[in-house]
Amino acid sequence: MSLIDRDRAHVWHPYTQMATAPAPLAITRGEGVYLYTEDGRKVLDGISSWWVNIHGHSHPKLNAALAAQAGRIEQVIFAGCTHAPAVELAERLVEILPAGLNRIFYSDNGSTAVEVALKMAMQYWRNRGEAGRTKFIALHHAYHGDTVGAMSASEGSIFTSAFTPMLFSVERAHAPYCYRCPLGLTRATCAIDCLSDLETKLAAGRDSVAAVIVEPMLQAAGGMIVWPREFLMGVRRLCDRYGVLMIADEVLTGFGRTGKMFACEHADVHPDLICLSKALTAGYLPMGVTAATDAIYEAFLSDDRTKTFFHGHSYTANPLACAVALASLDLFRETDVLGRVAELEVQLRVGFESLRSLPCVGDVRVIGGVGAIELQSNELNDDESAGGYLANIGPKLAAEFLERGLLIRPLGNIVYFMPPYVITDDEVAWVIEQIGDVLQEL
Ligand code: PLP
Repeated sequence: MSLIDRDRAHVWHPYTQMATAPAPLAITRGEGVYLYTEDGRKVLDGISSWWVNIHGHSHPKLNAALAAQAGRIEQVIFAGCTHAPAVELAERLVEILPAGLNRIFYSDNGSTAVEVALKMAMQYWRNRGEAGRTKFIALHHAYHGDTVGAMSASEGSIFTSAFTPMLFSVERAHAPYCYRCPLGLTRATCAIDCLSDLETKLAAGRDSVAAVIVEPMLQAAGGMIVWPREFLMGVRRLCDRYGVLMIADEVLTGFGRTGKMFACEHADVHPDLICLSKALTAGYLPMGVTAATDAIYEAFLSDDRTKTFFHGHSYTANPLACAVALASLDLFRETDVLGRVAELEVQLRVGFESLRSLPCVGDVRVIGGVGAIELQSNELNDDESAGGYLANIGPKLAAEFLERGLLIRPLGNIVYFMPPYVITDDEVAWVIEQIGDVLQEL
């Protein structure tokens, strides 16, 4: 029996459960930007395996770091124990994170990194005697993960609608979605007027808001929405003005994806809490980090046990994940990884802009190693909040790309390309050609 038949008998996949869904790709190995299938195909990983991979698949240095760590200690409880990989990774992250984020809290994935940030923010105010600050403000088109708190902070969509009764309510302010400006303005002449909605919500919740949570510079799952940096600067300014915490969800944007090590650097913004995952371990192992300022950490430092942060996962600070994260940071030092992303960005800008004139193309957006095309689509509006995720065009295009040996998974009518940074110029040129050819036929 093939892997696919065995898979179909017992495995439950995320997001792809319709009876008519195509068979999963049975992957037997990966190398660099390529995935190899059981039936002998070679497929270029154009989505970095759900946005996690940066240095390529099965990288010899990362493999070696993992194997070496497995030979020392693979896992140990992190309540009451510590180990070198966790300590060293905390030191290395603090060195590169926006200044002030000096405390590293480990968890398991992007959603837990967000859950931890939300819980820390709420308890921070409680520990400081402001227990009434329990509300959060998030943005339209936000996506923060699939656990309950992360779903609550995410825009309501097909991803969350079945769970509405278990979600807590969150205030929602405009995002700077310039192509579909919520105020009907154009970027060339606007003064980031959309920010005033956040200010209105902050003013209304003067004593009740704990934190504002945003995905800096790139709202990814909500439609690959690239921000003007001024909006991000404005979020920080307003959080300061109203005395609330700013949470930067850099689960996707961290580790170079937008061209800077962290997207907050585009606007020289220092958040109070930052959430990291995905490329943290270069796509090798699940791990989340929530980094906090000293001020937040100190609000929990007490002999009064009610002030303790009671949150921990079995695999907190898993040594294997820490070791591979450290090896990934070594690669950033040894090779000019951010320089490579800068080159990739230039090529994506030129290549994607050349597709703008195609009749089906509505907008082109590029930041760092991410290129996106928003298709003009009449079927967009059935689920606008998730970037038209249900638009039928998505799976149809994905099938055509796969036919050409390219793994790209459009978010409904948003076709995006987000490869591991090690992709070559020739491979990028080939991908842009494939996207152009497929869109030409629409
Ligand atoms: N936050 C952002 C910005 C994301 O893009 C994602 C996943 O795509 C998450 C959080 C959730 O991460 P995970 O899938 O690891 O739980």
